[in-house]
Amino acid sequence: MMSEIPKAYEPGKVERKWYNFWLEQGYFTPKIDLNKKPFVIIMPPPNVTGELHLGHALTTTLEDIMTRWHRMIGEPTLWLPGTDHAGIATQVVVEQELAKQGLTKANLGREGFLKVTWEWVKRSREAINQQHQMLGASCDWTRERFTLDAGPSRAVRTAFVRLYDKGLIYRGERIINWCPRCQTALSDLEVEHKNITGSLYYIRYLLVDEGGFVTVATTRPETFFGDTAVAVNPQDQRYKNLAGKQVILPIVDRKIPIIADEAVDPSFGTGALKITPAHDPADFEVAERHNLPLLDVMNPDATMNENTGPYQGLERFACRDKVVADLSDRGLLEKIEPYLHSVGHCNRCQTMIEPRVSLQWFIRTQPLAEAAIKAVREDRITIIPDRFTKVYFDWMEDIKDWCISRQLWWGHRIPVWYCQACGELTASIDGPAACIHCGSKQIVQDPDVLDTWFSSALWTHSTLGWPDDTDDLGYFYPTSVMETGYDILFFWVARMIMMGLEDTDEIPFHTVYLHGLIRDENGEKMSKLRGNVINPLEAINEYGVDALRFALTTGSSPGSDINLGKGKLESSRNFGNKIWNASRFILQSLDAEAMSLRGAKRRSKLRMEDRWIDSQLNRLINNVTQLMGDLQFGEAAQQIYDFIWSKFCDWYIEIAKIRLRKPHPAPSIDGEGLGEASPLPFLVNTLEKSLRLLHPFMPFITEELWQSLKMRLLRSARNDNMRMPDSIMIAPYPTPERSEGSLAIDPEAERVMDSVIEIIRSIRNARAQHKVRADKWVEAYVYADELLPNLIPQREIIEKLARVQPLAILSRRESKPDKGKALILVLKETEVVLPWAGMVDRLAEKQRLTKESEITQARIAQLDARLRDNAFLTKAPPPIIEKEKQKLDMLKDKLRRLHQEL
Ligand SMILES: [Zn+2]
Ligand SMILES: [Zn+2]
Repeated sequence: MMSEIPKAYEPGKVERKWYNFWLEQGYFTPKIDLNKKPFVIIMPPPNVTGELHLGHALTTTLEDIMTRWHRMIGEPTLWLPGTDHAGIATQVVVEQELAKQGLTKANLGREGFLKVTWEWVKRSREAINQQHQMLGASCDWTRERFTLDAGPSRAVRTAFVRLYDKGLIYRGERIINWCPRCQTALSDLEVEHKNITGSLYYIRYLLVDEGGFVTVATTRPETFFGDTAVAVNPQDQRYKNLAGKQVILPIVDRKIPIIADEAVDPSFGTGALKITPAHDPADFEVAERHNLPLLDVMNPDATMNENTGPYQGLERFACRDKVVADLSDRGLLEKIEPYLHSVGHCNRCQTMIEPRVSLQWFIRTQPLAEAAIKAVREDRITIIPDRFTKVYFDWMEDIKDWCISRQLWWGHRIPVWYCQACGELTASIDGPAACIHCGSKQIVQDPDVLDTWFSSALWTHSTLGWPDDTDDLGYFYPTSVMETGYDILFFWVARMIMMGLEDTDEIPFHTVYLHGLIRDENGEKMSKLRGNVINPLEAINEYGVDALRFALTTGSSPGSDINLGKGKLESSRNFGNKIWNASRFILQSLDAEAMSLRGAKRRSKLRMEDRWIDSQLNRLINNVTQLMGDLQFGEAAQQIYDFIWSKFCDWYIEIAKIRLRKPHPAPSIDGEGLGEASPLPFLVNTLEKSLRLLHPFMPFITEELWQSLKMRLLRSARNDNMRMPDSIMIAPYPTPERSEGSLAIDPEAERVMDSVIEIIRSIRNARAQHKVRADKWVEAYVYADELLPNLIPQREIIEKLARVQPLAILSRRESKPDKGKALILVLKETEVVLPWAGMVDRLAEKQRLTKESEITQARIAQLDARLRDNAFLTKAPPPIIEKEKQKLDMLKDKLRRLHQEL
């Protein structure tokens, strides 16, 4: 006896079992086969700080779909997993943990802090890997990497030293984004800009040696201590004769020049700008052009420093208040206006950025960018969707040098040593014993670490063993697809292209696949504030992994945002249940018949519906194969869904049930009995192939069902030497059948069955519309011409599925029945006549319609009143009002149709 198939699919009982099986069998680890081209994805390493969110679930699902599909089409497939040490993000989190115990990183010291961080990271990495396994990720855990592993770390030092030796890395004093809380430099990409209503302060600077003043407007009066000039536009008539003169800074009584510079916008404020080069990037550029000195007025924690006289030690915003009050006392504050402007914030801790001049390490990105632009322009790398190609070019063509040093402890330490004897520096991959310039052993390593994105930029080759010439690097590099969110195109993808080309002289990947963001079912951004966040772990608990994966995939397309709500998760779960129930029916039928399926298709005369399902399946396989190749996974999933749900379950299986219910002799070895031929060979074939088609999307339920099916097939074929792979995930993906070079399609069967389905559907609709009881049989006439001989054999199907009897299938030449009023349905190739009298009790029908129109009328009145209510109109959000209006329109339309029927 075969084990019973449970009534309902219980994902929790199935998922871990199969994941462990796959893992134990080693299916995730590819075999290097030099005769085959491999398919390779390097997983975008999630931050070790990360809790699993829907974005991870999406990335994991898409990459797993690609990986499983390529594995099933026979390519050696590597999906290499890993995690990112996430420098600043991790350090912030660990510092917060320490703060709860009343500790700071200074208490622990560098080594102690790193030890604590490593422990924290180890736990976090394990949790992340567990979550990936939960999602079904078929990645090769034997090759898992962490950005701080020995290998990737050596890659980082090697890349640094090589760029340094080529003059592409330099150390210099530049204005950078400084986070006073994290106390580190940040790259432009790590700064979040927010619109803030601040104030614009108009301050008078007195002219030296003559009466009068110049008024400057500024949002940051506390920085005036660092002013080294006032600038005006040379075309500005108001200040025509001022350039070259001097003003005196209030309070500190320092003289500074007035200069003329084209960059000054005459329409901002008064048209005269204070120039504070040490605290403003635009002013920094002006200062470079005019050789103005830099004057830093703040400490690293954004308190005022010794250059601010009596204000020294004040926090920057407290200082602002005091400066404004003091200027006002002196009659030098002209006015204050509210001012909306964009202000940079640290994207890790949300502290307001302080632009600061400081000594940092930079990569000269322009030469790297040129090669990276060329690779995309020459189509060696394709970006999907294509619209991001322009975005990429725009950014790369205007690229700024990349500040790569961070004043943090957690990360790759900069491989540079300073000599205390001669003052020179030594860059070294493995750590120098002495200064390479003077031989002194008095050397100290740079205390700073590298930007996290530096190691991420090497991720495609550092994970495969670079700088060593390993087998993995030789075989798996360049990789195939880089799949990630469009929001990190610059942070990461562009930099990987630059560094990949620089380090290996080869592109890092052929295709960049950018997915969209996930929004809620109304297209709103998900946020804790709105309360519309879906936690993937909760979704998995409630709906199962396969349902979550399917909901994230169906109907999506590259680069487009995805709307996800409970409705979509529910319908994905329903889809799983539909497949489960269909499979259960087929497996039970197999158990009942204990038949052999071999050679079933050799039957000389196939039934129309069998020919039809074969043809439809072949069409589907062909479409899906093309769509998967074009990375259109959302559409592929949609087509598989439509086929299984409608064509297979709703039509073919329902038709097959009619045949199976009839007594027929047990089928012989070739599936052909004396009586009715069994549909089982077709049920099994369609199910088995559908499961394989669906496997990359829903790996768990397909494996569970496929194994149950396999068990039964092997039993019934035990003498036939039948072989099947040990798992669906290593079974071949279905390929379309061809005959004489073109796709094997059966146009005649498709035409006939289309018509049969259309007839049944229209009769069902008519019955529903006229509220005919489900168990009532009604009389029907079908008229056709050409199709007639092929329709007649389908009589029983139409009768049973549309519940019509007697049913006459006639030629159009025959006269239509005259039985009082009849309902005539005009279809594509046929007409259906339903004698009205047989269908409905006219009096009861009239009463029902009258009642329904009364109810509808009442609801219209209710809604109408609501939409005239001012309280409702002002309080309700616009989408709700819109919905109510639509409801009203629909009700009015319904009422109109009800009256018509009456
Ligand atoms: Zn910060
Ligand atoms: Zn030296």
